[in-house]
Amino acid sequence: SQILEGENLRKKLHNTILELKGNIRVFCRVRPLLPADGSNGEASVISFPTSAESLGRGINLIQNGQKHQFVFDKMFSHECSQQEVFVEISQLVQSALDGYKVCIFAYGQTGSGKTYTMMGKTDSPEQKGLIPRSLEQIFQSSQSLSCQGWKYKMQASMLEIYNETIHDLLSPNRASGAGNSNAGKTYTIQHDASGNTYVSDLTIVDVSTIREVSSLLQQAAQSRSVGKTRMNEQSSRSHMVFTLRISGFNESTEQQVQGVLNLIDLAGSERLSKSESTGSTLRETQAINKSLSSLSDVIFSLAKKEDHVPFRNSKLTYLLQPCLGGNSKTLMFVNISPDPSSMGESLCSLRFAARVNACEIGVPQRQI
Ligand code: ADP
Repeated sequence: SQILEGENLRKKLHNTILELKGNIRVFCRVRPLLPADGSNGEASVISFPTSAESLGRGINLIQNGQKHQFVFDKMFSHECSQQEVFVEISQLVQSALDGYKVCIFAYGQTGSGKTYTMMGKTDSPEQKGLIPRSLEQIFQSSQSLSCQGWKYKMQASMLEIYNETIHDLLSPNRASGAGNSNAGKTYTIQHDASGNTYVSDLTIVDVSTIREVSSLLQQAAQSRSVGKTRMNEQSSRSHMVFTLRISGFNESTEQQVQGVLNLIDLAGSERLSKSESTGSTLRETQAINKSLSSLSDVIFSLAKKEDHVPFRNSKLTYLLQPCLGGNSKTLMFVNISPDPSSMGESLCSLRFAARVNACEIGVPQRQI
């Protein structure tokens, strides 16, 4: 067999560690400093350790003279391109075609690069994010697997959870601007015995080409609710969940697989005082905090193998229940802003991510 050395050996060892670690991984990404970033005079620095054990995985954050160190499964500095990030998740995306339930989250304060990581800039090929790249890969792979007898059916849906209410981002009413897309719709979440999730009244679109999906993504991007806070004029105050359901059937072997790929752009994780929310924005922030804390409660309770996992405490966790359990694969991106005035929030995000990173939920299984 081939003798591995240098970078290849490091990658192989790292992947083996990941395999052994279980089904939840945390990747951290620091966005570049932007011209609009300010400074409140806090002395704070982000750096990346070069020691052998944390190279490519660690981050140091100095706040008020105190150094905080974190190590994740993977670290992407401000210099990493969208393609470099995608290379590291392409295997995970592929496993949805093999019949796994996969969830990829972007977590972080508003303005830390969640939407850039997930969706990217769709008008620039280099800056496309994980969602378009994942879909391109899935369609290409499904085509090349067709010569081995595989036929796939893919269905996409896209929703937003805003103030604990589901909105259908692919609703034809919404696209035409014909009022409230929720009028007369219930959007009740149901799970069947084999762990498939259904949301009543939600638009589900059969997709078979990347072009079809691209136009759906554009439609959805236009429909996303955005609110204004002092932190970011166009800050997203909602969780966006893109779901691709994949059913595969092999005509020669009669094998069947059912995979799900969920790509989730979470609402900003910032604490209340920072966004100076009042009135309806305050209610939004409280709903966001509730669902983000429910998400962490679920992850920690799965990790502790508790009998009762509080999936029902928020729409987000209830919706994703079958994809967060022991037989699924979860990846969380923690997005970090290098803006000196954001160091308090960055530290909170890193601490949260470090707790998630210490979790092991179970051994992933394919649904066949
Ligand atoms: P969030 O979704 O967390 O609120 P955004 O994704 O909108 O944050 O990012 C905030 C700003 O930073 C946007 O202008 C975005 O284009 C830019 N940005 C984020 N990450 C990167 C990156 N890795 N490279 C270049 N620009 C980025």
